Amino acid sequence: MKTAIYPGSFDPVTLGHLNIIKRAAACFDRLIVCVMINSKKQGMFTPEERVELLKKATARFPNVEVDYSEGLLAAYAKRRRAHVVVKGLRAVSDFEQEVQMAVINRKLNPGLETMFLASSEKYTYLSSTIVKEMARYGADLGEFLPREIVDDVNRRMQELQERKD
Ligand code: ADP
Repeated sequence: MKTAIYPGSFDPVTLGHLNIIKRAAACFDRLIVCVMINSKKQGMFTPEERVELLKKATARFPNVEVDYSEGLLAAYAKRRRAHVVVKGLRAVSDFEQEVQMAVINRKLNPGLETMFLASSEKYTYLSSTIVKEMARYGADLGEFLPREIVDDVNRRMQELQERKD
């Protein structure tokens, strides 16, 4: 069975991520979408909440599993017996860091290959950061987020703004 991992922060999952998930799921027997926990970064959603949002957004893909992990991706891949890491590339600006990570991951776990999927041109501008920014100003998020999670993101933004006032 060919298993691949698609790691990221997914805070929250966007239509850009979902496009990569759909295309990668068609290439492998199983795709594990893994929320990588970065304890230094406080997100809009907790890792457990991000997993729940990802599960809602990917429920229609039978070979997609959602998980979260702390620590090194190379070690996580070994534990899950996955030999491929999938990454989405939006622009040249993503390239340098992603290649560096791919080389390091292969040093730590020889045989772990990283495969890059070019972002769909519709989503090259899209990032979780941009979506959060737009949510803050009350923009319609339907074009940027899976429809199953739009209400969750609007609700959380409202809670965060009320907490500040
Ligand atoms: P973000 O930059 O949106 O916070 P993540 O850290 O969650 O993204 O990214 C996880 C992976 O998804 C990375 O490989 C990133 O390049 C990719 N990715 C993010 N947004 C898009 C998009 N709009 N199109 C294609 N790939 C994307």
